Amino acid sequence: MKQSDKIIGIDLGTTNSVLAVIRDGTPVLLPVQGDRLLPSVVGIAPDGEVLVGMSARNQWVVAPDRTIRSIKRKMGKAETVSMAGKVYTPQEISAFILRTIREAAQAALGEEVRRAVITVPAYFNETQRQATLEAGEIAGLVVERIINEPTASALAYGYGLSNDQHLKVLVYDLGGGTFDVSIIELHSGVVDVLATAGDNYLGGDDFDERLAGMIADEFYEEHKVNLREHHQAWARLLRAAEEAKIELSSAPYAEVKLEYIAQDRKGQPLHITREVTRHEFEELIADLLGRTMELVRKALMDAGLSPNQIDRVLLVGGSTRIPAVWDLITAQMGQEPHIEIDPDAAVALGAAVQAGIIAGEEVDAILVDVTPYSLGIETAQIGYGGRIHTDLFTPLVRRNTTVPVQKSQVFTTLFPGQEQIHIKVYQGENPVASQNVLLGDFMVEGLKPNRPDGLSDVTVNFQLDVNGILDVTVVDRKTGKRTSERLKASRQRLSPEDIARSQAKLAEAYTEMEATAAERIMDPGVAALLERAQRALDRADLDAGLADDIAGTVADIRHAVAVGDDAQVEEFCDRLIDLLLEVKE
Ligand code: ADP
Ligand code: MG
Repeated sequence: MKQSDKIIGIDLGTTNSVLAVIRDGTPVLLPVQGDRLLPSVVGIAPDGEVLVGMSARNQWVVAPDRTIRSIKRKMGKAETVSMAGKVYTPQEISAFILRTIREAAQAALGEEVRRAVITVPAYFNETQRQATLEAGEIAGLVVERIINEPTASALAYGYGLSNDQHLKVLVYDLGGGTFDVSIIELHSGVVDVLATAGDNYLGGDDFDERLAGMIADEFYEEHKVNLREHHQAWARLLRAAEEAKIELSSAPYAEVKLEYIAQDRKGQPLHITREVTRHEFEELIADLLGRTMELVRKALMDAGLSPNQIDRVLLVGGSTRIPAVWDLITAQMGQEPHIEIDPDAAVALGAAVQAGIIAGEEVDAILVDVTPYSLGIETAQIGYGGRIHTDLFTPLVRRNTTVPVQKSQVFTTLFPGQEQIHIKVYQGENPVASQNVLLGDFMVEGLKPNRPDGLSDVTVNFQLDVNGILDVTVVDRKTGKRTSERLKASRQRLSPEDIARSQAKLAEAYTEMEATAAERIMDPGVAALLERAQRALDRADLDAGLADDIAGTVADIRHAVAVGDDAQVEEFCDRLIDLLLEVKE
């Protein structure tokens, strides 16, 4: 095979490893074993075959004694590990991974590959860096340079490519088993690490464990079988929890479904079917995410910088796809982080940029398609005392999100018995919906309540493609009925005239019923009555027929208030008072 002068970029991660090269001047990922990410897992099969990647990861479920995960944590330590009865150094285990990557590069490039740039965490000391270099050598690679992961991330974003750029960048890297935050300064081609902080045992694995733990606890309550004590069942549950977690980054619900997970005392098979909501999951991991924010504050403190002195915030690592991470870091830093470049590819892409620079290649910045505006829907809320706040903008897809993208969120109807909702889709950044650009609207009808209070949940799903085509789908939770509409998000900036025109159009629409409802304050007597009705509806012992009547009348009152029909308000209030008299105190 012809020897290549190409230098490959490798992110040798705790959980996943990634390969990238410069192709036609831009960094691209090269798949390894057909996937973008190679699980950093090594094993020996019963027949002696060496397993690397997904096959090793699968083997871990059944044979943990023949399988090694997270070897990166041991790099640079004198410790060895034992796999299928044989002893290996951390360098040797890492070399199995690097060899697999090198072979994938050779297959893709059709040439023999020897040279590589490998990334390490900014906090790695000399011994740990040396061990990484040795792992490369064992795998037959000449390691041209070891670079810091946050530096690689900044390079992937094209920062530091020109000499006149002077930037302070905070990189928040939340991976599978580790969390690192680094503050780096790029100036005249030099990168300084100003501060690092992190936790070597905090990441996506812990989130999987929290979720699996919750389900295992519930399972124990119900069946008195402790899944944690059965390695295989627990491993399966962890895998299912991870899948659900990933699903919850783009969907409001996910299901953990496992058949034949255990047996009861009589030998009958037991199964798990558990729906998890995003909210529930975020509560489960709230303290862990809180801890990452503490470490962000610590890094800022160590660097002697305040959040507003940071020019860019980058999110990297697969776990930063969790929407709550975006929210927390935005609040903490007072600025929106960048997540345009695939968070689990950024480090490898940056390693490829560095490799290209060393090889003397012309390197261009990565071009990614992003949505220039946030996209969302108009929502309303009932505030204190029954006051209705309408015209609120709830974004589903944030600006600067890489397209194509798919996001969904759950919304609840305002009034018991409400059968229809008016979906208005906007584009823009203003918290007041009507101040943004209306992309389109449509009605969803025939809703059936799925909640005891007579309200209906609907899932609103946004799917945006690279051409700005936005498919909005609303699914009724109770019936599963879907209503869809295709809209066009504009990729160009609208002219001030366009905006004025759209605003005028909206103002007109708003002179209708909802606008007046927004400003109307309910009579305190009516509000108190509605609260009493709600208390009655909250009672478990309330007769079902009576509950229906009360809920229906409440809806009538709210509607009458919204349209400003005082005579009807009075009539319905009288009816409600009569109904409430039937409720046994
Ligand atoms: P590392 O740098 O530690 O090797 P990665 O950056 O590849 O790890 O991150 C792997 C972690 O990211 C895993 O825990 C995985 O479950 C998690 N992850 C990947 N995609 C998502 C997602 N869409 N939502 C939440 N977590 C995700
Ligand atoms: Mg990583």
